[in-house]
Amino acid sequence: MLDSLRQIIQEVNSAPDLASVLSLIVQRVKGVMQTQVCSVFLRNPDGHYVLMATDGLNSDAIGKVSVEKGQGLIGHVAMREEPINTEDAQSHPKYLYLPETGEERFGSFLAAPIIHHRQVLGVLSVQQIDKNRFDESNEAFLVTMAAQLAGVIAHAEATGALRRIGQKSEARFSGVAGASGVTMGECVVVSPNADLNSVPYQTNDDPEKELEFFQNCLFAVREDVKRLGIELSSRLNKEERVLFDAYLGMLDDVSLAGEVTEKIKSGLTAQYAWSQVLLEHVSTFNNMHDTYLRERASDVRDLGSRVLAYLQQSTDQKPRFPDNTILVGEDLTASVLAEVPSGKLVGIVSLRGSSNSHIAILARSMGIPTVMGAVDLPFTHLNGQELIVDGYRGAVYVSPSEGLKAHYQAIINEDKVLVAGLETLKDLPCETTDGHRVALWVNTGLMADSMLSIERGAEGVGLYRTEVPFMLRDRFPTEEEQRIIYREQLETFAPHTVTMRTLDVGGDKSLPYFPITEDNPFLGWRGIRVTLDHPEIFLVQVRAMLKASEGLDNLRIMLPMISNVPELEIAQMLIGRAYDELVDEGYKMQMPPVGVMVEVPAAVYQAREFASRVEFLSVGSNDLTQYLLAVDRNNARVAGLYHSLHPAVLKALKIVVDDAHSEGISVSICGELAGDPAAALLLVAMGFDVLSMNATSLLKVKSVIRAISLESAEKLLEQCMLLPDADSINRCLEAAFRRAGLTRLLRPDDAV
Ligand code: PEP
Ligand code: MG
Repeated sequence: MLDSLRQIIQEVNSAPDLASVLSLIVQRVKGVMQTQVCSVFLRNPDGHYVLMATDGLNSDAIGKVSVEKGQGLIGHVAMREEPINTEDAQSHPKYLYLPETGEERFGSFLAAPIIHHRQVLGVLSVQQIDKNRFDESNEAFLVTMAAQLAGVIAHAEATGALRRIGQKSEARFSGVAGASGVTMGECVVVSPNADLNSVPYQTNDDPEKELEFFQNCLFAVREDVKRLGIELSSRLNKEERVLFDAYLGMLDDVSLAGEVTEKIKSGLTAQYAWSQVLLEHVSTFNNMHDTYLRERASDVRDLGSRVLAYLQQSTDQKPRFPDNTILVGEDLTASVLAEVPSGKLVGIVSLRGSSNSHIAILARSMGIPTVMGAVDLPFTHLNGQELIVDGYRGAVYVSPSEGLKAHYQAIINEDKVLVAGLETLKDLPCETTDGHRVALWVNTGLMADSMLSIERGAEGVGLYRTEVPFMLRDRFPTEEEQRIIYREQLETFAPHTVTMRTLDVGGDKSLPYFPITEDNPFLGWRGIRVTLDHPEIFLVQVRAMLKASEGLDNLRIMLPMISNVPELEIAQMLIGRAYDELVDEGYKMQMPPVGVMVEVPAAVYQAREFASRVEFLSVGSNDLTQYLLAVDRNNARVAGLYHSLHPAVLKALKIVVDDAHSEGISVSICGELAGDPAAALLLVAMGFDVLSMNATSLLKVKSVIRAISLESAEKLLEQCMLLPDADSINRCLEAAFRRAGLTRLLRPDDAV
């Protein structure tokens, strides 16, 4: 059964559109279960369940027969969200005769709901003439099948919008709000090299030239494989030699090259044509019954990637970045963003990741509207298309209508007016109406955001993410390279404080030259755990920071992901050692304050122990939230559970503030929560001394704090702390904002 299940899913996964997906499902399920009928009903926008595919019932009824939720056996399955298994459908009290289908011939009936993200998308049913109840294993198979197919159907439904794109009508795709703001621009697809699945759809201008280029590349790969085979021949076993021969065979295969040639002649680029043909072959191998042949699918894919790498290397096609570039990719990185010439990047859409992935944080710091986790976006077909990115609601529109564009243009204009209005606050103090001062600092990491921070009147840096300059290189930066970068940062803000965090890699931040591959990266080797295991990296970095602070003395050093006291003590010992070394070498700087980031639940409960050993604490609420709620910050599937204002998070924050203050040290918060205008009120009321946020949020937060008294913020906090869940807390804050006339600072009013 497992094998059949896998095979059906694989086949269905590679079907080109919803209609083929559904017709494959009914044929294969009918075959495997050896029944006489298999049908799929899907919910339409009116909430009716429409017969979309059948193998066994009258095919003329497809698209014509439908039932309401709760109506007939199908509607009943959809309503109860449970399977029905009966040996005699017609005697079931919920039976509804659908004459167009010709189902009166069939006795036994088994159906399971197709549920995706708690929504009933449809119903999968099987029927038989005999009045024999389907057995339990059949029922379990159908339920498993329906659960697995739900994702594929949801994806096929969503990407079905692509056909509408072809017809030049707009299509909407949902994701997770990544960075607020809206933008319109031209899609530029970025795809990792040699990845067959993400080659953008592109056409060629000169088929003859493209064909010649393809043949040259094929020839070069063939020579490569031959040479490799000869070089390795003495070390290869028989099976491996057979593999090399098989590779050569595939490259010589006239039908394979012929298929690609046809596509190139029809106007596609060699890269796209090759990727499509290879993917079809991979899927054919995947669907083979013979296990040996099925395993060859990975060889075909491997060969396909090799040739693709050649095609990509040899194409002198640097991506063209128009003035209004919207970068779209499966998994975007900081270095990809850095490739876009300054001023040209207006929007970002990532198929993976969620609102607190580092790429989203980077986007927020740059003020670029961003949508994350847009899993259904058929991105390879969007190069050059016009897009709207709604970073407030997490939506992407392809081929937007004139009406929609006008709607969004109005929001863009409103946002501009709002930002211009906020500019006037730049030099005013951040204090409540009853005179309580709060320090507003910024999070930095890119030089672009440092400049923006100064323009916005930042009073210090609460988090300088040192890993960004590490990510943009192909090796660890040297001590001197680091010193120069850190010096620039310290000078830019002097005499204000700059809090430099020691290297925090792992999780979703990886260095191309220092890969960390783990099953559970957020619970693995990350932050301080990596640098304590590599004191040579840690010491060089701390030395560079200390040297850079000479004569400025505005440095603070902050340690990420500390989960126990010994980690802190070892880090402090190493910092002390670096300092002593430099003093011996003749450098003259003050010993900087050292602080701990409170990012894991253990640190919340040991806040006092940490506070008694350091000069400051800073809450990293992005990680603290993910670890408290056990919700991966990088996983769009659980984005709905990532509640920054969960009561447990608020309680943890209050503990940290109180414990830091009782040890007489200052406490800041540098997670994204600090930049959320609604949350900022609660943070001020809790007693945080510093709120550190991306430069883009700074003036919004200042404007809210200046509009409210500490007393009323404290009352609001008291109220919120009594509420049982994040939604109630959000509603309570929204109501307070509405009363104060501040809702536009959260998002535009009218929904699309
Ligand atoms: C945090 O976790 O809140 C934080 C500021 O660090 P980062 O987002 O870089 O993990
Ligand atoms: Mg963190």
